[in-house]
Amino acid sequence: MVCSVCHSDNITVLTDILDIPVFCNVLLKSRTEALKAPKGDIKLCSCNNCSHVFNASFKPEIMDYDQDYENSLHFSSVFNKYAENLADYIISKYNIRNKDIIDIGCGKGDFLNIICSRGNNKGTGFDRSYVPKHDDKNIKFIQDFYSDKYSSYNAELILCRQVLEHIPKPGEFLNSFDEAIKSKDSSIVFFEVPNAMYTIESLGIWDLIYEHCSYFTAHSLYSLFNSYGYAVLDLKKQFSGQYLSIELSPDKSKSGNISVPIPDKYLFNKFKKEYESKIEYWKQVIASQKSEGKKTVVWSAGSKGVTYLNLVDTEGYINFVVDVSPQKQNLFVPGTGQQIISPDKLKEINPDTVIIMNPVYELEIRNTLENNGILCKILKA
Ligand SMILES: [Zn+2]
Repeated sequence: MVCSVCHSDNITVLTDILDIPVFCNVLLKSRTEALKAPKGDIKLCSCNNCSHVFNASFKPEIMDYDQDYENSLHFSSVFNKYAENLADYIISKYNIRNKDIIDIGCGKGDFLNIICSRGNNKGTGFDRSYVPKHDDKNIKFIQDFYSDKYSSYNAELILCRQVLEHIPKPGEFLNSFDEAIKSKDSSIVFFEVPNAMYTIESLGIWDLIYEHCSYFTAHSLYSLFNSYGYAVLDLKKQFSGQYLSIELSPDKSKSGNISVPIPDKYLFNKFKKEYESKIEYWKQVIASQKSEGKKTVVWSAGSKGVTYLNLVDTEGYINFVVDVSPQKQNLFVPGTGQQIISPDKLKEINPDTVIIMNPVYELEIRNTLENNGILCKILKA
């Protein structure tokens, strides 16, 4: 086993997670299909050299992202606010107005739309899995991976958000468009990834999903880009510490004075025990809800909700999951087979307890429950 960032073989196994759905973000049309969803294992490892966290059991050949892949978070006003603030921050810090933007792995183009409309910019979004219905007047979609082949596309800003964690060999990925980016040495390059320390230190363990073969700490993210010749201008936590963003220049001489210490080994050493106690605690909570005859639902059919159900609800005590995204409603959770319902429908179920997956959305969820006249206990997973 070697680290996927620095190639060191000084690796520690943090925990093994067996039999979890290969795709958290592909929901199924029936319970039967959902129960048969393909599964894989995670051997979660950390690198003692660069602190990178990765799944040593990841098999890239079983991943095939297609248009059923639904991971848009833009149905939440809290998330939209985050995206708008982030766009405004980038626009004003680097003066990205009336400029060209490339978005690598743009998904359905949600963020590209926001940053183009707020800064009057023109965008080109690359995503192999998305066939757009039509191009917007300011946005063009290319159904392909971004690579050196597209060197002639100019851009003052190159975005790549929530992509790198899906890539088994991040170095090869950066190499595939090295020339294209290095030829734009006055551009700003912006990457965003989930923050591994939110999982390891703050025990955000529901973020462990098969699709993510790489979990970056600030140090491993910094090391990766530094070793590929980028100048790191800034690196910060985003979205209540759940994400990391890194601002880069292809011009090495612009290097900022950024120091990113390696996280304390103690945090990795205590993880396995804390991970296991957290799973055990939640198994007991839902078993006692069931034995007291309480109707319990989970809020969010995103990756956190899917992981939670697959790790904790092994006895099938929970029947419904609520999600605000109309694209997810009436579909079924891979692995455990719960039906996904709208907040409206939740009224008919009249739950005693709602378990929420992400504390960031607590207020939004409380307001939705209140507006639907649902009185229930809220637990935070
Ligand atoms: Zn490493």
